[in-house]
Amino acid sequence: MIRLAHAQLVIADISGYTDFIVNRSVSLLHAEQIVSDLLGAVASNSRHPLTLNKFEGDAALLFAESGDDPAAAAADVLAQLRAMFDAFAATREAIAAQRTGCNCDACTNIHGLRLKAFMHCGQIAIKQLHGFVELAGEDVIVLHRLLKNQVREREYVLLTAPVCALWPAAAVEGYAGSADCEGVGQVPFRVLTPDRLPRAAA
Ligand SMILES: [Zn+2]
Repeated sequence: MIRLAHAQLVIADISGYTDFIVNRSVSLLHAEQIVSDLLGAVASNSRHPLTLNKFEGDAALLFAESGDDPAAAAADVLAQLRAMFDAFAATREAIAAQRTGCNCDACTNIHGLRLKAFMHCGQIAIKQLHGFVELAGEDVIVLHRLLKNQVREREYVLLTAPVCALWPAAAVEGYAGSADCEGVGQVPFRVLTPDRLPRAAA
């Protein structure tokens, strides 16, 4: 079954970690366990309509169908992102406390781990095949291409122009940038620190 829907798209990415651990199998095993625990904490903090689609290496892909109010859908996802960063930091400290007895590269570098979140929105195709849900379309590709960018911060939220259009407050938060995405051209975005994200309505 395939259908089209407007959706909010998110990638939560823990970067630069498993890449540098190549030599020792203990470190690699522990790095994978740590990343799995952290991504699990991030994903388990998402709530309907935001849904985990799949894990992709050190990242998680999530999406929320926008329904008939894309601005409300975007606001909900932005507030959930803020909660994800909090969950990430709390889980990171808990894991570090559990692993103080191990001297491997992965366990001794837990405190240095950071989260990046990328958010875009647009019309996508949602395919259900053999029990899996696959997201397709140019906007899904754009979101993935944005992971390669020139942003220097280690922890940030990157919001594309269509997301900023749904959340006008973004215009006065963070700073503007763009990335040259292969096959798509320049994609403008704003970069902000997670503490500038809106909180969920009480
Ligand atoms: Zn270890």
